[in-house]
Amino acid sequence: MRIFLIFLSAFIFSRSIAPEVQPFVVIWNIGQGQWITVVTNNVCIHFDMGGEWLPNYGNRRTPPVLKLCSDKLNRVYLSHSDMDHIKFLSWGMDHLLQLCDAAPPLDPMNARKRALIAKVPRCHSPLPTREVKVVEITPRFKTHEFSGHNDFSRIFVIYGPYRAILIPGDSEAHAEAVWSKRLYNLPPVQILVAGHHGSKTSTSETLLRALPNLQIAVASARKARYGHPDPIVVARLRADGVPLLRTEIWGNIALQL
Ligand SMILES: [Zn+2]
Repeated sequence: MRIFLIFLSAFIFSRSIAPEVQPFVVIWNIGQGQWITVVTNNVCIHFDMGGEWLPNYGNRRTPPVLKLCSDKLNRVYLSHSDMDHIKFLSWGMDHLLQLCDAAPPLDPMNARKRALIAKVPRCHSPLPTREVKVVEITPRFKTHEFSGHNDFSRIFVIYGPYRAILIPGDSEAHAEAVWSKRLYNLPPVQILVAGHHGSKTSTSETLLRALPNLQIAVASARKARYGHPDPIVVARLRADGVPLLRTEIWGNIALQL
């Protein structure tokens, strides 16, 4: 009887403590585009919500992003308004609990895109977790300094307890030369999502010099259709000894932060 009670109390005790999960990030296999989710115990933080298809789930019924995030708060940070970065915002509103927009795109948008963005209400509270920290290092270009649409990309670094990931959207080399300077004043970054899906216009040597602790890079792209990641980017990373994982080969890629 005493043993039974010990088991019973151990069972009740274990049930009364919510499971603690170390924060992790998932770079979803969504074809070419961007949808990245940082998962903590109480909130899913999405960086863009785009791609060619919903996060790949093979023959399973429930998309894995729902398995991870349907019982958590959800917020999204948007790099810019290209459709491969925002296409599934409507789906997110229909399926993700209390989804709000913590960082709307900064680029000029047509009416269709504005309507899509407006479906997601703005977040009115600070990030409801201390497990991770989101730092934005987007440069504020003056009008004459802009050289193209991708210069509007918002750049985020997400710090977990042990590792950080840099998500540069579709930012290109001359912008990297500006915002990469800020990385020297921040704690080191270990994980890089290759900018602009691994295009040769991004992941410059200037940026890589600002990432001396980089351990791994990920390309959310499709080689056969778009030619990304570009062999030049692959070679630049290889010269630094940094492996490049591709979502089209590895599927959804999860890394602990
Ligand atoms: Zn893009």
